Amino acid sequence: MIRSLRSLASARSAATDAERAAEEDLLRGQRAQLMVREFEEQGSGWFWQTDRDGSITYLSAKVARQVGHVDGGVGETLTALFQIDSESPDTERTLGFHMSSRTSFCEYSVRAVGGDADRWWSISGRPIIDANGNFQGFVGWGSDLTAKRRSEAEITRLALFDGLTGLANRQRMLLSLDQTLAQVAATYRTAGLLLLDLDRFKAVNDTLGHPTGDALLKQVAQRLTRAVGDAGLVGRLGGDEFKVIVPSDADRDRLATLAETIITVLSQPYFIGGSSISIGCSIGIAVAPDDGTDAEALVRNADLALYAAKGDGRGVHRFFREELLEGARSGRQLEDDLRQALVGNQLHLVYQPIVTTADERIVGYETLLRWNHPVRGAISPAKFVPIAEECGMIEAIGTWVLRRACADAAQWPADIRVAVNISPIQFANPALPAIVAATLATTGIAPERLELEITESVFVNDDTSTDAMFASLKGLGVRLALDDFGTGYSSLGYLRKAPFDKIKIDRSFVCGVADSATRNAAIVRAIVTLADTLGMDTTAEGVETQDEIALIRDIGCKQIQGWVYGKAVPQADVLARAGQGGGSVTRVGHRVSRAPRNKVLRWAMLEVAGQVGDVRIRNLSNGGAMIDGVEFPDGSRGLPVRLDLGDGRMVGATVRWAQGDRAGVAFDRVVMLDSIAPRSARPRN
Ligand code: C2E
Ligand code: MG
Ligand code: MG
Repeated sequence: MIRSLRSLASARSAATDAERAAEEDLLRGQRAQLMVREFEEQGSGWFWQTDRDGSITYLSAKVARQVGHVDGGVGETLTALFQIDSESPDTERTLGFHMSSRTSFCEYSVRAVGGDADRWWSISGRPIIDANGNFQGFVGWGSDLTAKRRSEAEITRLALFDGLTGLANRQRMLLSLDQTLAQVAATYRTAGLLLLDLDRFKAVNDTLGHPTGDALLKQVAQRLTRAVGDAGLVGRLGGDEFKVIVPSDADRDRLATLAETIITVLSQPYFIGGSSISIGCSIGIAVAPDDGTDAEALVRNADLALYAAKGDGRGVHRFFREELLEGARSGRQLEDDLRQALVGNQLHLVYQPIVTTADERIVGYETLLRWNHPVRGAISPAKFVPIAEECGMIEAIGTWVLRRACADAAQWPADIRVAVNISPIQFANPALPAIVAATLATTGIAPERLELEITESVFVNDDTSTDAMFASLKGLGVRLALDDFGTGYSSLGYLRKAPFDKIKIDRSFVCGVADSATRNAAIVRAIVTLADTLGMDTTAEGVETQDEIALIRDIGCKQIQGWVYGKAVPQADVLARAGQGGGSVTRVGHRVSRAPRNKVLRWAMLEVAGQVGDVRIRNLSNGGAMIDGVEFPDGSRGLPVRLDLGDGRMVGATVRWAQGDRAGVAFDRVVMLDSIAPRSARPRN
């Protein structure tokens, strides 16, 4: 009896164990389901299952939605929903193959057949075989690859494209250049490489800030892409440097035309933040295979050509020439030498008198920087100041000039001013007023004796920091002069609010003012009227001949600075002159303007309607020339021609008269005769 009771109890407890186990199984199953659902909805993983016919019996709801089956996709085949991503290199077999051959597959890259095209998954699966060895269908899992794919694509994009402009970057341009040059070698084609540098961009960036600079670069990129069109690939190398590869048919005429188009297009004003900004563009061109067959040589040579373009006044294009290589070696040397110059006492200052037109007395001196190079001798500031600006030395040099000049001026008579040139880079430095104030304090000169000469390039745009700089400098009591007026910026708007005390009329307008062939007298008169209206003084720069003095005085210009009253002299001479009799000055220049007609005999190259030939120049003035050696047909009066007078630059001119093989031409602009190297021999046969 007791035994039977025990067995009953144990039987009961066995039944409860089984129930409990079943209950636990159920719970575990529910928990697993819950976790799978949670995993599917929240994570990037998912599951799928098919029956033995390949029809889907289960697919995670999220993925079903993404492939365009809100109903869950049950009953569809796997291949109706997914296709192998053809761009994925490691997937060789099709999904259909595995489904029909009932074989496993692992981590295939797939995309949706319908639905979202920008979504990728990795998918794996294996056949289900039951205890009897029968195939029951497929079970599988997958994961979302979209984020990974996108970041890979982004990495590729970042590696090959410029983040700011979207253009090809340096890396991609180099790859393209390598490919282009390989084709050049294989097919005897020619390819061109254009290197572009924006003129005055640095000033925009320095004075208006980087956001404006960036906006400008984006617009440049758009214009450039449009200008080049299908002719080549455009890239940005960084900063304000751009590159264009013209992969075929790169003959020089075509490249020159393209370069001119680019320069014109990029030089149109830009409108940013409601105001207009003007910049320019210089271009260097190298042609493969002539100028290099590998990327390194071609880039270097295009770079040299670019340097030459900048040296020739910017806003132009230049092709590579062998002579540039030699020049470059010495240019780099110059930068290194300049670093030595400042510490090695090779720099010194000279002072050029500024004289009143009313009574010919010296009222001030302009400080001009000189560099006596230990090997090359005197180097012009027009050459080394831009180098100092580029290599970041102008701040140190400029501060030194300011201190030295003020210290020297402290020893001059108290009514004589000192003018100091300030580079736009110094002007953009917020520390400039403090430097000036400290200099005034240590040297003890009165602020109104110091005149800072600033060029128009500081006005690439109206900007609050420019205004603030003017206000701080004026607050110190120093005078401000606008140097080289008329040569730089095309707008006059800034004159309304910039507190200048003086306008210095550039030498290019003053030169030839007495020659009626030019309009310079009219231009100088207009500038003087403008300055008078604004209450500013005027100084005519670069007056060389005595007959110009009276004219400039009659026009109303207050002061003259030029070789007619002497070149710049060292401090000792300034002191000696001050000791001798104060500020009186003697005229030392030629009595009359350089002959309107100098009798000369030299060869020149004449270009008429694209045809080039040699002519002889019989007489020459800065306004025109008489030539012989070419017979112009009747009715040639007014015909535009171009003359290469010997310095390699073509001067535009117009035929005024023609008789036999002689003709008179008037230059489109005043030609500085000093700058032209005489060429007595016939240039070519
Ligand atoms: P700038 O400020 O316009 O200086 C006047 C230039 O014209 C000087 O050339 C001067 O020698 C020259 N000049 C004066 N009278 C005549 C003349 O009658 N005929 C001719 N043909 N030229 C005349 P320089 O000394 O070669 O200076 C060239 C430029 O270099 C200056 O032009 C100025 O922009 C820059 N520079 C000179 N010194 C400094 C300096 O200390 N700091 C900075 N930032 N720039 C300087
Ligand atoms: Mg000056
Ligand atoms: Mg000047």
